[in-house]
Amino acid sequence: MRSHDVVVVGGGVIGCSVAFALSRMGASVVVVERDRVGAHASRAAAGMLAPITESPDEGAGFQLGLESLDLFPSLIAEIRELSGIDPRYLESGLLRVGEADEVEPLRARAARLEAHGCRWLDGQEVREREPRLAPAIEGGLWSPREGHVDGFLLTRAYAGAAARRGARFQLGTTVSGLLWDKKRVRGVRTSAGEIAAADVVLCQGAWTGLAEEWGPLHLPIQPVKGQMISLEAPQPELPCVIWGAGTYLVPRDDSLRVGATVEHAGFDVRTTAAGIAALLAGATRVMPSLADCTFREAWAGLRPGTPDDLPLIGPLPGVSGLTLAAGHYRRGVLLSPLTGLAVADWILSGKLPAGLAACDPARFQKSG
Ligand SMILES: Cc1cc2nc3c(=O)[nH]c(=O)nc-3n(C[C@H](O)[C@H](O)[C@H](O)COP(=O)(O)OP(=O)(O)OC[C@H]3O[C@@H](n4cnc5c(N)ncnc54)[C@H](O)[C@@H]3O)c2cc1C
Repeated sequence: MRSHDVVVVGGGVIGCSVAFALSRMGASVVVVERDRVGAHASRAAAGMLAPITESPDEGAGFQLGLESLDLFPSLIAEIRELSGIDPRYLESGLLRVGEADEVEPLRARAARLEAHGCRWLDGQEVREREPRLAPAIEGGLWSPREGHVDGFLLTRAYAGAAARRGARFQLGTTVSGLLWDKKRVRGVRTSAGEIAAADVVLCQGAWTGLAEEWGPLHLPIQPVKGQMISLEAPQPELPCVIWGAGTYLVPRDDSLRVGATVEHAGFDVRTTAAGIAALLAGATRVMPSLADCTFREAWAGLRPGTPDDLPLIGPLPGVSGLTLAAGHYRRGVLLSPLTGLAVADWILSGKLPAGLAACDPARFQKSG
């Protein structure tokens, strides 16, 4: 049996961020991934970094999103340098546009979010930024600090940087259970044998709930399907992320990503006619000229959903040696820097940042 300080189960953006943060702080880490690095939700993601404008209220997740966003510039510089992979992070700004009935709520939000650099742009001002907007668009909330990153390249950059710091990646290997010593987890059982470890971190994304079969664990994480499409980028390219008519448009190199549906369909990852039609309808409602773009690709991924849309980060009550870092729903790319640091702090120093109280896995544990 091989032995490591920490076994990380799952090599998506969360597992790789955790592996990077831990190995950077000197831990001996192995990531066990049944497939390839970043092959699932982290690859499917649009890569939007939008904690300020994405949700209609400024609840518990708002502050966490902001803190994680702030970590991006220095983190990207570090992992790019270590891995040689550029995750294409861009603080492009985000424009959330609206038609007549959306103007008042959006204008009110722009005023509320002024401290974060947001402001209301009227019809003329939004067209100074993007002249191809549909005539029905009457204005928009401009948020300059938000942007986007390539989720797949970010995952690979975390992995490459972690490997440079000594982390090992065991790919094509499925974890099938935990090794227990009474209420303590002391490693994992895999398709390639057992691995002993002082700590195990579960980062299996939408599949984390399946680990309930591995012991007395309550893990309320369900897959939430998202379909996306990409179009050949219109010329000139969009200047920023544009969000309207229930659809967001994220410029990415020579393509434009259009997302995303939200569907409760189990582990189904088919793309459907209805899903693609809805995305095209939203995109062309915001910008009719997109109808002329070449259609490139459609795909679907599984977001790890939780009952309150917040992730589970930290230990489970009554179980030692096991930490959760899962259930990041629509914001795993955004929250990956913060999650990695928080898990590394917890495992290496026994402390979790106070701001993460809302993500305590204990909130879902059944009493009695
Ligand atoms: C269409 C779509 C658009 C999105 N857009 C955004 C966005 O704009 N911004 C944003 O921040 N987030 C976005 N998200 C959400 C984001 O993609 C997820 O929150 C994030 O990728 C979750 O990362 P993860 O590492 O937890 O999961 P995953 O990337 O799914 O990784 C989990 C890994 O665990 C592995 N695994 C599972 N079970 C086992 C096992 N038993 N043994 C070994 N390995 C196992 C899997 O193979 C997988 O590689 C989007 C998601 C989708 C689907």
